[in-house]
Amino acid sequence: MSQDRIFTRTAVDTTTAARTGFIDLPHGRVRTPVFMPVGTNATVKAASKETLEEIGFEIILANTYHLYLRPGHELIAKAGGLHGFTRWKGNFLTDSGGFQVFSLAPFRKITDEGVKFRSHIDGSEHFLSPEKAVDVQMALKSDVLMQLDVCTEYGVSEKEASSASRLTTEWARKSKDRWLSARGDFRGSLFGIVQGNFSRNLRTQSAQEISSFDFPGIAIGGLSVGEPFEVFCEYLEFTSSLLPEDKPRYVMGIGTPEYILEAVAAGIDMFDCVFPTRTARNGLLFTAHGPITIKNAKYVEDFSPLDSGCGCRVCREYSRSYLRHLFKEKEILYAMLATYHNLAFLHDLILKIRYSIDCGEFDRFRKDFLAAYHSRTE
Ligand SMILES: [Zn+2]
Repeated sequence: MSQDRIFTRTAVDTTTAARTGFIDLPHGRVRTPVFMPVGTNATVKAASKETLEEIGFEIILANTYHLYLRPGHELIAKAGGLHGFTRWKGNFLTDSGGFQVFSLAPFRKITDEGVKFRSHIDGSEHFLSPEKAVDVQMALKSDVLMQLDVCTEYGVSEKEASSASRLTTEWARKSKDRWLSARGDFRGSLFGIVQGNFSRNLRTQSAQEISSFDFPGIAIGGLSVGEPFEVFCEYLEFTSSLLPEDKPRYVMGIGTPEYILEAVAAGIDMFDCVFPTRTARNGLLFTAHGPITIKNAKYVEDFSPLDSGCGCRVCREYSRSYLRHLFKEKEILYAMLATYHNLAFLHDLILKIRYSIDCGEFDRFRKDFLAAYHSRTE
């Protein structure tokens, strides 16, 4: 089915697995590699949709668990889905809700059919099945939907990892059946998720099984769950190498320059994380010479730009001293400016990464960027 071929590669690096390309989605073309800001409650905190458009984002995330509980997917469906509700013109990727059920719900019980849980807001009981996760995301009119999966932490037993991986495959089949039978003229793409924890055998088996369902795209789940950076890199590269080359590859929870560069080198096309926006609000700001903690006393009389090499609106117009003052006074403007810069910085990094891959210079760019990024000691 040609409508499910959504990814086109445009360049492949010679020394790493990095690649550039684009994904055609209902709300426009998304150039890759791509970093997607997280809009948990159908809004990226402290950033309006106009801000996201201005920076140049083509796709953002929304969290199904939160929107299902409040305001409820039926209400969003009445508004015409996420796009009608928020008026964001670009694409939305929604998660299945599973990750938040596992990390936020005060109670949950997994069966073969799905997961029963209590809301962290009011304690009400809910049941999320693979089919329902698809139904809710279709009601949201998401552009990229994720299957419900079972994620395991670093250090669980092989038995637990194996059982989670088996269930994830079973739920992949049910999710795809539901998506195919219910979609009609709905054009959102469903992605499968590879699990398998930190076992090469399980990862291989899961990658084969999930690939066999021929989803439009595939995510690598169960990484960045508390493992050391070296272990993350090893399993990311290994799992990525097992996936078909003609489908977009997505890794959840990646949002620092170091992790992004590693993911790109492993051949990953899409990643998202709350890190850049959350840490911005907490006072950590990216610069080409490493992150700075804006509350530090050394910035009291520093009237220079946040990052003189960054061309963003905040760096052109505001000083470190002023940003520090806004932070100390807990001004709302601080959160807006800090979020703007951190997102613009990462978006700019992505543009440079794409350019370096297209020129065959990615490995050198990565080394140069990291040498500068690690040069500051604060
Ligand atoms: Zn900036």
